[in-house]
Amino acid sequence: MSTPRLQIDLDKIFHNAATLVTRLKAIGVSVTAVTKGFLGAPQIAQTMLSAGITSLGDSRIENIERMRRSGIDAQMVLIRAPLISQADRVVAAADISLNTELKTLTALSVAASRACKTHGVLLMVELGDLREGIMPPDVGSIVQSVRKLPGIRFMGLGSNLACRSGVSPDNRNMAELSNLASRFTTSECSTLLTVSGGNSSNLDWIFAGGEIGGINNLRLGEAILFGREPLRRTPISGLHTNAISLIAEVIESKSKPSKPWGTLAQSAFNDAPVRYDQGDINQVIVAIGRQDVDHDGLTPPDGINILDASSDHLVLNAGKRKISVGSSISFQLNYSAFLRAMTSPHVGQKLIEKGVKALPYQGVTVLPHAA
Ligand SMILES: *Cc1c(COP(=O)(O)O)cnc(C)c1O
Repeated sequence: MSTPRLQIDLDKIFHNAATLVTRLKAIGVSVTAVTKGFLGAPQIAQTMLSAGITSLGDSRIENIERMRRSGIDAQMVLIRAPLISQADRVVAAADISLNTELKTLTALSVAASRACKTHGVLLMVELGDLREGIMPPDVGSIVQSVRKLPGIRFMGLGSNLACRSGVSPDNRNMAELSNLASRFTTSECSTLLTVSGGNSSNLDWIFAGGEIGGINNLRLGEAILFGREPLRRTPISGLHTNAISLIAEVIESKSKPSKPWGTLAQSAFNDAPVRYDQGDINQVIVAIGRQDVDHDGLTPPDGINILDASSDHLVLNAGKRKISVGSSISFQLNYSAFLRAMTSPHVGQKLIEKGVKALPYQGVTVLPHAA
């Protein structure tokens, strides 16, 4: 089997998605599964849908188009603000987009009218993390303008925290979003506005009994794929944290000194690293590098340590273990390492599934989804 490769266990992803959907449904919160980490790979998206997810979100229109082409007809949400230059594609492939700019919304309106479509819009509110979002005092006037745009349906508000500055969701900022949203729920709006509170970093707060107020949707990627909340990367109880692993092959294995010799200057990627002399070690080189993966996000098997990485070599201290050339090593990886591995043309993907899935909350057996 080819290496390096990502090994993706669909049964575990199914379990994580179904568990989160059930727990959040119990408190009135729907889940938009975020597919950007795996570039909208249709089989993974389909696994999430069979687990009870009804809405898929991606930051790239190309990934949404890929899922559409594969025949997925679930609700699709573009979770990064649309590019004006892609307005027609956004309206064609996505049902809803998250927006912050009136100029973009006007372009979407023109594109939607031209296509005889109605495009749903959630307005993102800035709550302090300082990535995307309308400053709270400006939300009212933008909602008014959006409600007048032909071809556009104002569907609610959203926010995104913990992505740029690490600002955590809490009762205060979530209440601010809820309260803002309640101002725009008019009597003629028969359907409730969507209030999309955030991403996987909201889960700690929610599961600790946070006051959810009007929050009725979350957009979850990392929690489904990795079973962890992103604020402290603690495992979420009942979820698999090992659904995805990275398999790479050993191309050199030798006993070598731990300390380099010669005149030390900068290395390819760092200032000359400080070396401590530990005598001879079992040094192993694995055929994967910075071009393929963020090596800081890799966890090797017990007893093995990562020493360094250059573009195509990952250097390990195998400790007491004897590892032979040609054998494979399996690493756990975090979201950042996963993102880069997914986008490297040199890393293959192998999806694993036994095929018959048990919904964890009902003991119901679901037949394998269509390929
Ligand atoms: C990436 C992203 C998400 C998903 O974040 P996770 O931490 O993976 O759950 C949600 N919303 C927006 C706007 C995003 O960009």
